[in-house]
Amino acid sequence: MTRHIEMLDALFKHATEGIVVVDKSGAIVMLNPKAKELFGYTDPDLIGKKIEALIPQRYAGNHVHYRDHYLEAPRARGMGHLMDLFARRSDGSEFPVEVSLSPFKTSDGEFVVSFVIDITERKKQENRIREANLEIQKLNAELEERVEQRTRELAEAVKKVEESQEEVIRALKKEKELNNMKSQFVTIASHEFRTPLATILSSASLIGRYGTSEEEKKRQKHVKRIKSAVTNLTEILNDFLSIGKLEEGRVHSIPVQVDLDAYCRNLIDEIHGLCKERQQIRFEYNGNTEVWLDKQLLRNILFNLLSNGIKYSDPGKIILLKINSNDVQVDIEVHDEGIGIPVKDQPNIFDRFFRAHNAGATQGTGLGLNIVNNYVSLMGGQVTFSSEAGKGTTFFVKLPNVVPAQAKID
Ligand code: ADP
Repeated sequence: MTRHIEMLDALFKHATEGIVVVDKSGAIVMLNPKAKELFGYTDPDLIGKKIEALIPQRYAGNHVHYRDHYLEAPRARGMGHLMDLFARRSDGSEFPVEVSLSPFKTSDGEFVVSFVIDITERKKQENRIREANLEIQKLNAELEERVEQRTRELAEAVKKVEESQEEVIRALKKEKELNNMKSQFVTIASHEFRTPLATILSSASLIGRYGTSEEEKKRQKHVKRIKSAVTNLTEILNDFLSIGKLEEGRVHSIPVQVDLDAYCRNLIDEIHGLCKERQQIRFEYNGNTEVWLDKQLLRNILFNLLSNGIKYSDPGKIILLKINSNDVQVDIEVHDEGIGIPVKDQPNIFDRFFRAHNAGATQGTGLGLNIVNNYVSLMGGQVTFSSEAGKGTTFFVKLPNVVPAQAKID
């Protein structure tokens, strides 16, 4: 052997790649020791066999076709670009390979040499990297989810802090309002209580002086004055208590079945004592005998409206209470022929402590209509009015006549 051939032979024998040479028909003509080792064959086994013997059965059929195609225009190239290639060992087991092909010619004809590398380790490594990547992706996703979760929690916590801040501000505002109201109460009470208390004091001392039975009429007059002054004081106190309860959200509308006609007649009897000389309260009732309303709230509404009608009308005037009711609604009208409410004061008439300019020396706190408005709302209704200064005033109250769900079941 010449030195060159010796060297080539050594290269062939010691190459770390498997080298397989096939002829034009695809028959194996030569393979180096590494190829035998890779494929698990001993020497004479493979010579003359088709190259498909080294390919897993499922790919072998197609391979014949690829091989023919390649031999039509052979050139050096890698095999199975972008594809996983597998080789088959003599025992049928498979292993991943990388193959490159080179055609060549000798005086014996055309051949193709393939260089085969077992890439099992590389694939394992790739798989490990892929798995690690997957794991990283998973961890990333988890991390992102956790960050999102934390962000959400943080946003919620911030919202809660903001809400509680708002609550504190609201509570402070309410506290301030209550304090204002209390100081207003002290101011009003000291004004409004003075007159009835003075009346009570003077009437009581006069009564004490009327010793004879001829003076019985005068005595009765002063007893009536005392009663009226006490009622007045009680109403002022009741109004303050009502406002306090409303502020605390302790007032609720609880409808019960009422014979409204009879209920109003009783109430009118009670209020009658407040009437000035020759004043009359007239009453008209039409509609359902029984309606569903909260009695306590209704009493306060009617009492406030009727006593205002009395207070703000001259002696001898008529105050009219008119009620129409049906299955769904109760319409109440309280009409008087009194001083009326000036147009410029009308927008504020339901404001707490507000009194119209023409109220003058008439006793009052400016709380009654505010309470009426609140109670009517609690009952699910509406209150409006029409008034002309010097002519009179009519208040309209619409209340739903609703049988509560609980009562329907009963
Ligand atoms: P008060 O009568 O204690 O002052 P209200 O809240 O009941 O308080 O009424 C508020 C104001 O509305 C009164 O001060 C008065 O100026 C006016 N007002 C209420 N009702 C009538 C009425 N029937 N006629 C004229 N003015 C009225």
